[in-house]
Amino acid sequence: MSEAEGTAVDDTPDGSAEVEAVVEGIQGRDRRALAKAITLIESRRGDRAEVGQEVLERVMPLTGGSIRLGVSGIPGVGKSTLIDALGKLLLDRGQRVAVLAVDPSSTVSGGSILGDKSRMPHLAADERAFIRPSPTAANLGGVARRTREAILLAEAAGYDVVLVETVGVGQSEVEVAQMVDFFALLLLPGSGDELQGLKKGIVELADVIVIHKADGDLADQARRTANDYRAALRYLGASGTAREVEVLTASAHEGEGIEELWSLVQERWEKDRTSGALDERRRAQQRQWFRRLVEEKVMDEFLSRAGVASRFESLESEVAAGRKTAGGAADELVAATRSN
Ligand code: GDP
Repeated sequence: MSEAEGTAVDDTPDGSAEVEAVVEGIQGRDRRALAKAITLIESRRGDRAEVGQEVLERVMPLTGGSIRLGVSGIPGVGKSTLIDALGKLLLDRGQRVAVLAVDPSSTVSGGSILGDKSRMPHLAADERAFIRPSPTAANLGGVARRTREAILLAEAAGYDVVLVETVGVGQSEVEVAQMVDFFALLLLPGSGDELQGLKKGIVELADVIVIHKADGDLADQARRTANDYRAALRYLGASGTAREVEVLTASAHEGEGIEELWSLVQERWEKDRTSGALDERRRAQQRQWFRRLVEEKVMDEFLSRAGVASRFESLESEVAAGRKTAGGAADELVAATRSN
């Protein structure tokens, strides 16, 4: 059991002394206080989670100052190696780095854990870095929500750069793209179906595509793959893709392309901040997040009313079987609960 869930640190009825202590710790940039705050917001115990929300609310004025960068790619593409190399570069420049992970599959598959400290030796050894694995919430929505809140807590604790690592399997990439300022997609040189990333619509999400492991025998292949992507993106650009997507090659092992990646992120971030595009992106993300939470809560509340859940399920089966239309069944469900 985690420290925050297990111990009664506070005997004030509303947990206010505990909130105070954690808030002070975060203000003082104490890594343990940040870890504790994240454990609180992740808690499945309502009263603990509430304490976490209070902490979050209290530190909100301190949030917003970091560069939020998403890093995505299939397992084995070299995400943790690259994040470690990038993190080291940032630490060398005097910046504090937090790494968070979004991986709803890790708990189910028991696969390699994103945000695992042993996979990021430089960051793990430096006390100016903070690494947090994916929360073990049951669903992606829960994981995403907690990660969004963890980003804010990390910012409040003074981290200059927040890296959000996610595994390249569709929906979790969409989630992460909706919580970061800049999204980097890592791909392998000449990986089978060359332009698979484009087909999956990932281009919609990525600000930069990094052809990784551009070293040794793979170096030439990586350059060719990068050129293929550039050509394809130009073609797509001509047909109306709004955002500019950069394509780089990099090798975390050889330290190639890491500085270029960071320069690009920094330049874009500064440009977007000056133009107001960064604020706009963040505002849109906040609105979208708020709407989703309201939808979830309204739905939960609705389904918790007497008889609604069973009615919902039976109508759902009717719709699935093609006996009712989705629209008709939705109207019927809402009408039936109104007359209750
Ligand atoms: P992740 O699953 O995406 O986090 O990938 P890892 O960072 O764990 O790396 C997977 C494997 O790729 C490991 O064996 C790494 O040593 C290797 N790897 C990571 N970066 C590079 C690189 O720049 N070049 C080459 N050739 N291999 C790399």
